Amino acid sequence: MAPRIYTSPVPSIPVHEQSIFTRLLSQDSPTSIAGQPATNVAFVDAATGTQITRGQLRSLALTVGYSLRNHPKISAKRGDTILLYSPNSLAWPVVVFGAIAAGLKCTFANSAYTATELAHQYDDSRAKMVMTSSEGLPVVRDMFKGKGLSKAEADARIIVIRNGLSWAGGPDASAKPEEAGLLTLDELLKSKGSLKEEEKFEGKLAKETAFLCYSSGTTGKPKGVETTHQNVTSVIDSVKLTFPPISYDTDRVLAILPMYHIYGAVKLIFFPLLCGTPCIIMPRFDPEQFCANIQRYKVSTALIVPPVLVVMARHPVVDKYDLSSLKVMFSGAAPLGADLVKQVTSRFLTKRKKESNPSNELAIVQGYGLTETSPTTHLLPVEDAIRKIGSIGILLANLEARLVVDDEGGPGKEIDAPEGERGELWIRGPTVMKGYLNNPSATANSITPDGWFKTGDIAIRDKDGYYFIVDRRKELIKYKGFQVPPAELEGILLTHPDIADAAVIGVESVKEATELPRAYVVHAKPSTLKSEADKEAFGKSVAKWMETKVARHKFLRGGVVIIDIVPKSAAGKILRRELRDRAKQELVQV
Ligand code: AMP
Repeated sequence: MAPRIYTSPVPSIPVHEQSIFTRLLSQDSPTSIAGQPATNVAFVDAATGTQITRGQLRSLALTVGYSLRNHPKISAKRGDTILLYSPNSLAWPVVVFGAIAAGLKCTFANSAYTATELAHQYDDSRAKMVMTSSEGLPVVRDMFKGKGLSKAEADARIIVIRNGLSWAGGPDASAKPEEAGLLTLDELLKSKGSLKEEEKFEGKLAKETAFLCYSSGTTGKPKGVETTHQNVTSVIDSVKLTFPPISYDTDRVLAILPMYHIYGAVKLIFFPLLCGTPCIIMPRFDPEQFCANIQRYKVSTALIVPPVLVVMARHPVVDKYDLSSLKVMFSGAAPLGADLVKQVTSRFLTKRKKESNPSNELAIVQGYGLTETSPTTHLLPVEDAIRKIGSIGILLANLEARLVVDDEGGPGKEIDAPEGERGELWIRGPTVMKGYLNNPSATANSITPDGWFKTGDIAIRDKDGYYFIVDRRKELIKYKGFQVPPAELEGILLTHPDIADAAVIGVESVKEATELPRAYVVHAKPSTLKSEADKEAFGKSVAKWMETKVARHKFLRGGVVIIDIVPKSAAGKILRRELRDRAKQELVQV
C-alpha cells in the first residue's frame, strides 16, 4: 500500500548550505551583521543589564575561536568536540559561536548533572576539553578524579567560565582560589589574535555535525544526537514562517529555558539572532525574577515549558508586576493541557485590565518536536490559539509526516493510519538529525532507509491539518520538559544491594503539569519486608538513595513501589503499559 504522506501547508523554502555562523553572523558591510545593524543589541544578562550587540558577538566569537584553535593549552582542530557544562549565561552565545567559528563541535550537558552522568557524556562524545561554569567546577573535577586523572591532568582539560562579565563591559567577579591556574574564558577573550573569518561549511559540508545534545530516543541510555549546521539553519527558517512575527523594534525574548537543551539552544540563541530580536538571559526559572524581568525589559515573548504556566495560573507574584508587554507564551518540550491554557488566559484577561497596556492580547501556543528533529516540527499559529487549543499545530515548512500504525513488516511495508486516526508520528525533512553519534544500530532503529524518523509519539491529524499528541509509544519520561530515561534509572536501581529487579515509568501530575518518575522494584529478600510499613520504609529509602546518584530532574518523585515481579514479555521486555495501568489505579491523582 502506498504510504499516506502529509506535507506542510506552508510553501517550501530553500535549504541553506552553510555554517550556522555564516548564516547568522556574517559581516555584510562594516555596519551590518547578517542583514541587521551591527549595533543592535543581541543578548542581555537579565540580572546586571550587561549587553552585547550583534557586532560584538561576532568579534568576541572570532576571538574565542582563535584561542580555541591556537592557545597552546588547547590547540583544538576542526572537528574536535568541546563539552559545555554551565547554566545559561551571557557567555553561552559567545562560546557556542566561538566553537562554531573554529569549526569545532559542542556538546551541551545538563548543568545539574552529577559527576557520573557527566562522565557518560564526556566519554561518549570524546570531548577534548570541558568548559564549565564556576559552580560546575567541583563536579567536573570529581568526574576527572573518577577517571583516575591527577589534578594537574584534569586541570589541563578544563576552561572555566567565571561569573564576572568584565569582557562584555559588565561587573567583574572576584577570582576564586580554586580557579587558580585554570584557563578561563576571560583569558581566551584577552587574546590579541582573532580568526579573520569563520570556518566554512559550504555545500555538502553543511551536513557536518555542529553540536550534540543527548537524548535517550525511544529506548536506552542518553545518546549523542548529531545536529548539523543545515539542521539548524533549516529549523530556524521554517519556525520563522509559522511563529508569531518578532522584530528588533517591537519585541524582546526572555530566556529561562536551559540552553543545554536543544529547545533552549535553538529558540534562544539562534532563532532570536535570525529575527534580530534581543534575548534577555536568565540563568534559570524563578517565578519572581521571571515576572520582574518581563516588566523591566518589556518582554513580549516568553519561551516556556508547561509547569511555568502552573505558576502563571496560581502564583501570587504574578499580580505584583505589570506584564502587559507579554504577547506570546510559547510552550514546548512536553504536553500542554487545554485546561491550563484556559486558566492562564482567564487570569490574564482580568489582570490585563488593570495594567498599563490593556489592549495587548496574550496568546498561549505550543510547539512540538524532539532533540532528534532540531527540535521543532510543529507549531500552533497564534491565530489558532483558542480555536485549536490543545493542538501542537501544523507541520512546519519543508517537512513531511506520516502516522504509522504498523511497521513490523520492515521498510517500505509499513501501514499508515486512515485519515483522522491515530498512528506513530514519523517525520522526514532537512531538520532530522544526522544520526546518533557512533551508534549505527540506534540510528538504523530510528531512521528508515528512506529518511523517515520515528518519533515514538502517537498523534492524530484532524481534518484541517492540525496535529494532536495523544500518547507515547516509547519508554521516555519527561519531568518538566527534561528527559528521564527509564533504562538509566533501572540500571542504577539494579546496583542497589537489596534490589533484584526494577522498572521505571512516568505518572501524570495534573497539579504540576508534568510526569513524575515512579519505580517498581523487587526486593532481593522479600521475606525481610514483613509489613506494609516495612515496604513503605524501604521504598522511601530507595528514593532517598537515588537522590545521591542522579540529577534532580530524575528523582523518583512519583514514588517507589515494592512488587513481587516486574511484568515482562516472553522476550524479557518490561510491560510498561501494565505498570502504567497499575499506577493509575494506585494513584487517584498525584
Ligand atoms: P526532547 O528530545 O527532550 O525534546 O523530548 C522530545 C519528546 O518530548 C517528544 O518525543 C514528546 O514525547 C515530548 N514532547 C515535546 N513537545 C511536546 C508537546 N508539545 N506535546 C507533547 N509531547 C511533547
